[in-house]
Amino acid sequence: MKIKSAEFVMSNSDVAKCPKSMLPEYAFIGRSNVGKSSLINMLTSRKSLAKTSGRPGKTQLINHFLINKNWHLVDLPGYGYARVSKSAKKVFQKFITQYFGLREQLVTAFVLVDIRHDPQPIDLEFMQWLGENGIPFSIIFTKADKLKPKAIERYVEAYKSVLLETWEEMPNYFITSSSKTIGKDEVLNYIDELNGN
Ligand code: GDP
Repeated sequence: MKIKSAEFVMSNSDVAKCPKSMLPEYAFIGRSNVGKSSLINMLTSRKSLAKTSGRPGKTQLINHFLINKNWHLVDLPGYGYARVSKSAKKVFQKFITQYFGLREQLVTAFVLVDIRHDPQPIDLEFMQWLGENGIPFSIIFTKADKLKPKAIERYVEAYKSVLLETWEEMPNYFITSSSKTIGKDEVLNYIDELNGN
């Protein structure tokens, strides 16, 4: 898929106020600092559509972007920031539960994980929760430029074996790097396919 246009639509802290349109929607979510903003900018070929920030735990907003005038890319807040208080975590959980519960137009979620990290309980728990709630998702491994091909393979295999302890099969996954533009076409073509093209 070629990106012809990418426009910011709105930021929201209230799921009920998200766009009413039934355009297919794709949500990107992951731990703070996983490289989500960089990935969104890579996918859309825009330098700063999503704001990259060294400030994890920044305001928790749902950001909608309209792509090619026919689908929404949704930037969800980062989770798992250690210094966030318990009450902030509760707010986040409620927010996310509402988002996934209410957005019928959501086609799939992309859960981002840093390829250099061993599987983290918070990501595994989140994927488990998506599975239990029947929400389709793919995994996007980020920052692949930081590892050599053999190491990438090793890390992905390690991830697979942990996931296969609870899942019957490995979810669909992508290996990406925003710095080296790796995995862009694969993710965009997958979205295109799901959009019926
Ligand atoms: P977010 O908090 O998940 O939105 O993460 P950002 O996109 O703001 O990135 C967090 C940090 O990781 C920044 O310092 C980025 O420069 C760095 N980063 C993001 N993507 C990549 C990547 O593909 N490769 C490398 N080497 N660094 C990355």
